[in-house]
Amino acid sequence: MEESRKKTLSVIVPVYNEEKNVPLFYEKIQKVLNALNYAWEIVFINDGSLDKSILELEKISKDDSRVRVIDFSRNFGKEIAVTAGINSCIGDACMILDADLQHPIERIPEFIKKWEKGAEVVVGVRAKNKGEGFVKKVGSYIFYKMINQISDMEIVTRATDFRLLDRVVINEFNRLTEKNRMTRALIDWLGFRREYIQFEANERIHGAPAYSFWKLVRLAFNSMISFSLFPLKFAGYMGIIITFLSGLLGVFILVDRYITQELHFSGSVILAVVILFLIGIVLICLGLIALYIANIHAEVTNRPMYIVRKSKNG
Ligand code: UDP
Ligand code: MG
Repeated sequence: MEESRKKTLSVIVPVYNEEKNVPLFYEKIQKVLNALNYAWEIVFINDGSLDKSILELEKISKDDSRVRVIDFSRNFGKEIAVTAGINSCIGDACMILDADLQHPIERIPEFIKKWEKGAEVVVGVRAKNKGEGFVKKVGSYIFYKMINQISDMEIVTRATDFRLLDRVVINEFNRLTEKNRMTRALIDWLGFRREYIQFEANERIHGAPAYSFWKLVRLAFNSMISFSLFPLKFAGYMGIIITFLSGLLGVFILVDRYITQELHFSGSVILAVVILFLIGIVLICLGLIALYIANIHAEVTNRPMYIVRKSKNG
C-alpha cells in the first residue's frame, strides 16, 4: 500500500547503437534510482539501432518489469525518440538522459531535490565542452548567439537534453503537434519555473557519437526556422536596402543627366542601376510573400497560444 502512494519518476533514454553502453547504463542507474524514495520506471527508446542494442534492452526489460522498451521501426532521430518517451511515460516527473553515460547518472538526486523544492523544469548545463572538436565548439557558439539574436525566446548556451520535467510540463509538451522539432527548444518555449544544474559531461566510452557534423547543422537550421521568422524576412530586408540604394543612385544619375551634366554615366552603368532597382523590388515582393508564409507557418505548427500552469476552481 505504502509503495503505491509513492510518487513515480520516469527515466527516458533514447538509444541508438549503444549495445555496449546499455548494460553499463542500467547497472548504474538502477542503483541510483533504488536509493531514491520514489517508485520508478525506465523507458528506453530504441531508435532503429543497427547493432544488438534491442537484444540488450529486451534482456533487461524481461528481468525487470519497471523497464519498458519502445522499439522504433527505423531511425527517427533523438528528438523524436525523446518525444516518444515523454508521450508514454507515466511518472509524476521524468528525467531525460543519454544512454552513452555522458550525462552523469549520479547527479540525478540533485535534479530531484530542485524538483521537490518547486522547480518544474530542471536543466543540466554543460560546464565545459570536454572532448569536443573545435568545429563543434565554434558551431554551437555561433548557433546559440544567432538563435538568441533572432528568436524571441532565450535559449541558454550549453543547456542540454539532460533535464527533469514535472508532470504539468509533460502534459503541456504532449499537446505540441509539430513534427520538425528540437525537443529542448520546445521545452524552453513552454516556460515554467526552471532551475539549472551545472555538470561536466563524461567522455563517451563505447561507440561513436551519432550526430555527425551535418546532422547537427541540419538540426541547427531546423530549429532556427521553427523558432524564428528572421530567415524568412531576410529577403525582404535585403530588397528594401537594395531598392533604396539603387533608387538613390538612379535619382543621382537622372539629376546628372538632365541638370548638372558633369559625370556622363555610361549606358551600362544606367542599365546596372535599373537592374539592381528591379532586383530590389523582386526581393521586396519575396519578403511580402514570406510574411504570408510566416502566418501559415504559425498556424500549421499549431502551438497552443498560451500555456497555463494551473487554473483555480476549474
Ligand atoms: N540517439 C538516438 N537517435 C539518434 C542519435 C542518437 O536516439 O539518431 C541517442 C544516443 O543513443 C544517445 C543520445 O541520443 O543516447 C545522444 O547521442 P550522441 O551521444 O550521439 O550525441 P552527443 O553526445 O554528441 O550529443
Ligand atoms: Mg553522447
